Amino acid sequence: MTGTAPAPFTADDYRTRMDRAARQAAGAGLAGLLVAPGPDLVWLTGYTPTAATERLTLLVLAPGREPVLVVPTLEAPDAERAPGAPAITLRDWTDGRDPYALTAALLDTDGLPPGPPGAPGALLGISDNAWAMHLLGLQKALPGTSYASLTEALPMLRAVKDTAELELMAAAGAAADAAFEEIRKVPFAGRRETDVAADLAALLRRTGHSQVDFTIVASGPNGANPHHENGDRVIERGDMVVLDFGGLKDGYGSDTSRTVHVGEPTDEERRVHDLVREAQEAGFRAVRPGAACQDVDRAARAVITDAGYGEYFIHRTGHGIGVTTHEPPYMIEGEEQPLVPGMCFSVEPGVYLPGRFGVRIEDIVTVTEDGGRRLNNTVREMVTVD
Ligand code: ZN
Ligand code: ZN
Ligand code: ZN
Repeated sequence: MTGTAPAPFTADDYRTRMDRAARQAAGAGLAGLLVAPGPDLVWLTGYTPTAATERLTLLVLAPGREPVLVVPTLEAPDAERAPGAPAITLRDWTDGRDPYALTAALLDTDGLPPGPPGAPGALLGISDNAWAMHLLGLQKALPGTSYASLTEALPMLRAVKDTAELELMAAAGAAADAAFEEIRKVPFAGRRETDVAADLAALLRRTGHSQVDFTIVASGPNGANPHHENGDRVIERGDMVVLDFGGLKDGYGSDTSRTVHVGEPTDEERRVHDLVREAQEAGFRAVRPGAACQDVDRAARAVITDAGYGEYFIHRTGHGIGVTTHEPPYMIEGEEQPLVPGMCFSVEPGVYLPGRFGVRIEDIVTVTEDGGRRLNNTVREMVTVD
């Protein structure tokens, strides 16, 4: 993905997001946020540089100050075309100048509130994907400051989607569903996993995805590995096949899993599939405002544990999704973050029987005023393919 995000957001939308981020930063004890190119910058400004380079591009957000984007002069024209640009002051720098000194001047650390007890000076939040060389440059230019991971400091920054974002999430989910309806019809038996995966990727693109993040096709015993790398294994009649696929459509993510069977399944295969479907349903039913993330995990896991398969459900129940396909919040034991209307995340329990087969069923769910709404709606009962 290059250039500006195609999402239908205005400069005012981006201004609102940047204000919210600055407020949340202040609430978290941060003197400012330093946002490098990546998903946070896209969400805050709509800007994606054509390439991440050694030249510093950095959005500087400080409570009570105007947002400033530090950008290399040769990339400034591109940045000016970003949909959020009217809400930002651009400060470009040419080769030979010190962009870290420029950034330091913007922050005026003398005026910054001090960091938490024990921290050396003001605490700044910085993007997880900022280059180490840039962080080192900032540390040198801003002696006495300390740094926190932006994702750890503000994990919920992008979690609650507004109405326009929810429409884009729903459209991405519907597109992934359309891809599943088509992949059901292709031949599986006698073809390699990589062949079916290529079909899936083509279908995701045909249904409007600009970026395909993953197309897992895990057949037979490979299905017992949740993050199986597609390989040359030839799919056989009698195989269970876990399909897990997603990417970005119009800047927002899809991610869905269905487990199909080549030909007629055995009673055991049917039973395990039904169990995972019940667990997925239980996880979905636990979604409502005020419930904790861990409640969704507990609800889904209890069904599988009660049936005696607990040790074969070897991952968390879900993850957030938005301008990336994996992000906070996480549906996992110990995560007490309350669910808020507008949050979007996966509910994807699975059972993995080593050396035999696996089953995973995954929908993206959004929190509504009184419960949850699925953004994936293809059949969850076992589907047989040829
Ligand atoms: Zn079978
Ligand atoms: Zn998935
Ligand atoms: Zn997922």
